[in-house]
Amino acid sequence: MIARVRGTRDILPARFTQTVDARIEAWNLIESTAREAFRRYGFEEIRTPIIEKTELFERGVGTETDVNKEMYTFEDRDGELISLRPEQTASTVRAYIEHGMFNQPGLVKLFYIGPQFRRERPQKGRYRQFGQIGVEVLGQSDDPAIEAEVIEMLDWYLKQLGITGTELRVNSIGDENCRPAYIQVLRDAIREQLPNLCGNCNQRYESNPLRVLDCKVESCQPYLEKVPAITDALCEPCRTHFERFTSLLDASGIKFVIAKRLVRGFDYYMRTAFEIVGDQLGAQNSIVGGGRYDGLSQMLGGPPAKGFGFAFGIERMIMSLPASAAANLNEMPALFIAYIGERARDHSFALSRRLREAGISTVVDLEGRKLKKALAIANSIGARFALIIGDNEIDSGAYVLRDMTSGEQRNLSEQDLIAALTA
Ligand code: AMP
Repeated sequence: MIARVRGTRDILPARFTQTVDARIEAWNLIESTAREAFRRYGFEEIRTPIIEKTELFERGVGTETDVNKEMYTFEDRDGELISLRPEQTASTVRAYIEHGMFNQPGLVKLFYIGPQFRRERPQKGRYRQFGQIGVEVLGQSDDPAIEAEVIEMLDWYLKQLGITGTELRVNSIGDENCRPAYIQVLRDAIREQLPNLCGNCNQRYESNPLRVLDCKVESCQPYLEKVPAITDALCEPCRTHFERFTSLLDASGIKFVIAKRLVRGFDYYMRTAFEIVGDQLGAQNSIVGGGRYDGLSQMLGGPPAKGFGFAFGIERMIMSLPASAAANLNEMPALFIAYIGERARDHSFALSRRLREAGISTVVDLEGRKLKKALAIANSIGARFALIIGDNEIDSGAYVLRDMTSGEQRNLSEQDLIAALTA
């Protein structure tokens, strides 16, 4: 047998898996609820290719980030370097530029749903192929109201799914005016601590010092707590921006904490950074990550444009669902038709067509099993009802409808049957 690639998963009908985040019903709930949130807030869908030129991510994500090191990259037959997308902001901004969306007046509000690929070490909640849902707001305005509105939408979304126990963490990571000076101060502060910090911190100190703040290693924490926070080193415009953003959250009644060491993994972020963490995920507790990236469009060769967005992992969102929501997911067919004999088979075929036209999800026993076996199949596929058809039923015009949960049976005409199953 050829097994699937490590770190990838099959998303399956519930009856084939015990793992909640591998259940297709859960994926559909996450996606359909997201579509409803996006509809309410006026976001339009975009689908970009899974493969892009490696250069896009090198310029966008940056060469010294974890995500870049984890990319799946290959040389195409014509020598071009291609990567599976590790995230979708760079692709979305590329499309924004390529299709001249910046020529439109007003903000362009886009959302995407799709798989991303990172060659990370697989563990619970961390995969090499995972689903992401994200939004990007692009245009000429960087008003903090854009950020507050996007977060309000996320808040609505989490409530709609019944997800509680999350924490919204916000920070500002400054801009090109205040960050360089801060990074100098940070480097000096970290240098003193280097012997006490982990190998990763030592490496990042050289390549991407801001990311040292993000280190999760327990033994580094006491030392990192001592280094100055970027939040305290912001220039006036960045500080004003951050204050307005947090006061808008307050006005919407959205709770948050200021996380002074929160930075984002990609080079293109500036000013507002945020994440939502959950209490049910263990080590991989980040569900949503987002922030502002005003320089990205130009970095990718486009016109100046401001941007703000987030992405969340579908698997991690599912793992955060309350048990009750996950238990109620059901996309099983409503009706399974079992028949006895040739005449009943032809009758069942004709009847099933009429039932489907009436909108009833119907499965006919195409294998022509004996009644007991047919009912066992109805049970296994999770049908709510079974209809049993033999000569008597055809002659009398009354079918036997069996409730598969209670075992209760009723005799119904076709008309009553349709009424009962479409009620
Ligand atoms: P990022 O694009 O790194 O900011 O991640 C945004 C969100 O994507 C995270 O908060 C997670 O929910 C999800 N995510 C990132 N990497 C993985 C992964 N390897 N497996 C599953 N989910 C992931």
